[in-house]
Amino acid sequence: MGEDLTSVQADSPEAHRYNRIRRWLGIADFVIGFAFLVVLLVTGWSGWLRDLAIKMVGQHYSLNLLLYLVFLLVISKALGIGFDYYGFRLERGFKLSTQRFRSWAWDEVKGFLVGLVMGSVVVELLYFTIRQWPQQWWMIAWALFMVLFIVLAQLAPVVLFPIFYKFEPLDNEDLRRRLVVLSERAGTRVRGVYRWKLSEKSKKANAALTGLGATRRIILADTLLDNYSPEEIEAVLAHELGHHVHRHILKSIFVQAGITLFGFWAANWVLHYSVDQHMFEELSDFANLPLLALVSVVLSFLLMPALNAYSRFNERQADRYAFESIASVEPFISSMNKLAEQNLAERTPSKWVEWFFHSHPAISRRLAAAKDWGRKHEIHPLV
Ligand SMILES: [Zn+2]
Repeated sequence: MGEDLTSVQADSPEAHRYNRIRRWLGIADFVIGFAFLVVLLVTGWSGWLRDLAIKMVGQHYSLNLLLYLVFLLVISKALGIGFDYYGFRLERGFKLSTQRFRSWAWDEVKGFLVGLVMGSVVVELLYFTIRQWPQQWWMIAWALFMVLFIVLAQLAPVVLFPIFYKFEPLDNEDLRRRLVVLSERAGTRVRGVYRWKLSEKSKKANAALTGLGATRRIILADTLLDNYSPEEIEAVLAHELGHHVHRHILKSIFVQAGITLFGFWAANWVLHYSVDQHMFEELSDFANLPLLALVSVVLSFLLMPALNAYSRFNERQADRYAFESIASVEPFISSMNKLAEQNLAERTPSKWVEWFFHSHPAISRRLAAAKDWGRKHEIHPLV
């Protein structure tokens, strides 16, 4: 494997710069969000916003909570919009985006509204359980959240994604046939393959397995479908099919369920502690929402390396599945190289960057694994 790594194309200074800026943007966004939650709690502004909500619409718990949430979301959007705009300029600056300002701004509005709707359902449910069952709320809320999560995973491809992108069933007969052969070989059946009109907004290419049950489908960006050879697209399809065969979505839901249960337990402990310390008068005082958010933010931050490692494990499994099901690993290698170039990805990120930030193994490693597999299993060795 070592010798192959040296033969991998080095990253361009442009790719380095782009990825470094994006990482710092992510870090800055995280720090601001974290600081916002801390400031709300320490200064007592959270309580002030709660009182404001009550003053505006009178004593009505659910309505007050909803209004309070709107305040929080509006303020945090105002704090983060600069970063969002910078991100938009960055994609355009590196010629990775084709999106116009108007379209971007409209996406921001839609994203905010989607967040508001989902956030309202979540907090109303949360504080309903807290008010009804102050001691056991965390277990009941966890069960409800898992149901919500599964419903959302099912609805996402048909309800959520179409808010931002257009999709249509793949009309390429040749590819369709290749997929049927691939999935029959896997002894499974994918319900559909969709063309994802990414080119309206981006020059990047992407593919994914999404949905659950009846909505489970493979989506392929048109930027990929239009510029890659049938063999290369087949290699990408085979990788996505690997996720399907290994039931990665279902397994991730189980992993998430465990983490969420622990998260709710920790949140319950922190909320009770805050009441004992007289930070809040009662558990159901929704001015403690930033405290709940902090528990979740800290937990996701701490678990990020572990979850990324788990994701990289799944990606390697899907890659191996792809190697086994396609005739030659060569199109896999060329599609990886093309994707890296098109998306301005870092082929060889530093070790700690990969460890902390990357949900996929470094492209250099994936290429090395493919070459290695090819050498061992194919009649005509590569390289
Ligand atoms: Zn994958």
